[in-house]
Amino acid sequence: MKKSFVTEAINLKNYPLNDNDSIVVMFSKTKGLMRAVAKGAKRPKSKLGARIQMFIANQLMLFEGKNLDTIAQAQSLNTFSKIRYDLDKMSYSMYIAELVNNFCSKQYNQDENYEQIYDLIFNAYQKITNSNTKNEIMLTVLKFQIKLMNFLGWGLDFNYCSICQKEIEVDSYFSYSENSFLCPECVDNASFSNCVKINYKIGLFLLELSKSEFSEKTKYDDLVNDVVLEKCFLFMKKYIDNISNKKTKIFEVLEKTAIK
Ligand SMILES: [Zn+2]
Repeated sequence: MKKSFVTEAINLKNYPLNDNDSIVVMFSKTKGLMRAVAKGAKRPKSKLGARIQMFIANQLMLFEGKNLDTIAQAQSLNTFSKIRYDLDKMSYSMYIAELVNNFCSKQYNQDENYEQIYDLIFNAYQKITNSNTKNEIMLTVLKFQIKLMNFLGWGLDFNYCSICQKEIEVDSYFSYSENSFLCPECVDNASFSNCVKINYKIGLFLLELSKSEFSEKTKYDDLVNDVVLEKCFLFMKKYIDNISNKKTKIFEVLEKTAIK
């Protein structure tokens, strides 16, 4: 008899296995990043076909396989349907899917805090689907980037210099070779290449997001503008791409035009 198990999972992407079947890449509450076969999902009338679309969260029953598990039953928990009708919601949700797919393999996630990460993805999609403005979407994605890195042990110390360990109370520098923040004195004393200057107020903003709970409203939420949000998003994106050695592709054009 095949062994079965039940889990909740959010779809990140799917691709064809053969003429009838698909493979779904998803993040499961109990197993983390996983792939499974959805049999018959490519047939026009397949119910499973609809449930394996990107971003949908399902309650699944699966059969364990030698290499790949097979989905036996899927019941959707949340389709986050409004994501599909808005280009910004769609793009940023795809970025989250790509980021999780790139970064949440066992290599980076040894603590197996899958439930925490699952909830983070679920809550992020929930917030994005219900967003009314692009700023709301971008703020959610920025919080997501910061929280995910914190959960995976790659969180940044936004207000401490990694060399002298002093609290930074002026404009700081972020070194992409050290993957850390530096105060102006330490930047002057050593020859770090590949640094960007981080405005003090932006540093405080990022610190506040890092210290708050994901769903908590911070004192900056209503004040922050699109320029700051885009800068911060691209800063975090570059940091994450840098440490994962895999470039998320979805915002390549935006990056080329926005940062030098
Ligand atoms: Zn220093």
